Amino acid sequence: THPGISKCTWKPNTDEPSPHRHFRAPIKTDTVMDDALEAIGNTPLIRLNRVTRDELKCQVLAKCEFFNAGGSLKDRIGFRMVEDALAAGRIKPGDTIIEPTSGNTGIGLAMTCAVRGLNCIIVMPEKMSMEKENVLRALGADVIRSPNDAAWDSPESHIGIAFRLADELPNAHVLDQYLNPSNVLAHYDGTGAEIWDQTGGKVDMLVVATGTGGAITGTARRLKELNPDIQIVGADPEGSILAGPGPVTPYEVEGSGYDFMIPVLQHDLVDTWVKTNDRETFKFARRLIAEEGLLCGGSSGSVIQAVVEAGKDLREDQTAVVILPDSIRNYLSKFVSDTWMDDTGLHTDPVRDAATKVWR
Ligand code: PMP
Repeated sequence: THPGISKCTWKPNTDEPSPHRHFRAPIKTDTVMDDALEAIGNTPLIRLNRVTRDELKCQVLAKCEFFNAGGSLKDRIGFRMVEDALAAGRIKPGDTIIEPTSGNTGIGLAMTCAVRGLNCIIVMPEKMSMEKENVLRALGADVIRSPNDAAWDSPESHIGIAFRLADELPNAHVLDQYLNPSNVLAHYDGTGAEIWDQTGGKVDMLVVATGTGGAITGTARRLKELNPDIQIVGADPEGSILAGPGPVTPYEVEGSGYDFMIPVLQHDLVDTWVKTNDRETFKFARRLIAEEGLLCGGSSGSVIQAVVEAGKDLREDQTAVVILPDSIRNYLSKFVSDTWMDDTGLHTDPVRDAATKVWR
């Protein structure tokens, strides 16, 4: 079992009423925001005009989570986990928040901790980009790296280290995105409700890259409550076992995929899984940037690979919504760099690359 389960004093029961249902902040474009945290959520939904045009008949709309204050969809849960824990009296200003993360939850937490007066320690695997570490340090967090090949339940994994530290340090808490219902609720109350409102309910398919599963579980729950026929598609990298059992192997895309089943991920909400690979993922992420002007991160390419496969049968009058989880900022020295793409052998066909540069 997950090392947090024995420490966890509350259950990942998303049916429990939340004291914070008001968390969907009103869009405030014409007023002053009180702090950076108010600029989390209410992200734009933007039509894709080129990237899926040759493959799909349906309209594809991108929920652009890189517009969040900290640059990813995980700002929503970093903020929400801290606010719910403060409101419930589980933590107080001056305490230390420790979290195992692939980085983006860390940035959302570190930003919230900076604004709310908490200390923050982030534990993340070596694989995650230096850009994420630099942002975390700039936000005042301490960063510890864990070995990439440590199994999730070993003491050296990012999860193992975080829980050990929380035992050793005074007033230290792991809010634990893998178990914490606030992870799901942030997307149930926020992302899912926003997608419904922005499309006027005209959504036939939702495609989400899955890490902890908080985003897919929360948005799918909200959308299926409103229309049970909406098809929910999960994108899972080859080498991860979230879509089902298989070999656990390394891959480059960050933030999605795991080597264990995560408590907050509610599998019965997912109608279809698409296995994605680094080559297609980074090719599509680079095309989203070059052809649509969307300054997204790598896992955004995974959802395009997934919608191209899962959305084949959608008609012209139908709509697929894809969630673009994070920003180009996290990967300037990685898939955004031609040198890195060459060094990792992931550069796509140069002819095709050149073709994408021509205005289509
Ligand atoms: N993409 C990126 C870049 C991420 O950081 C994350 C969060 N780990 C995800 C996708 C998946 O989000 P979730 O944890 O809600 O499944």
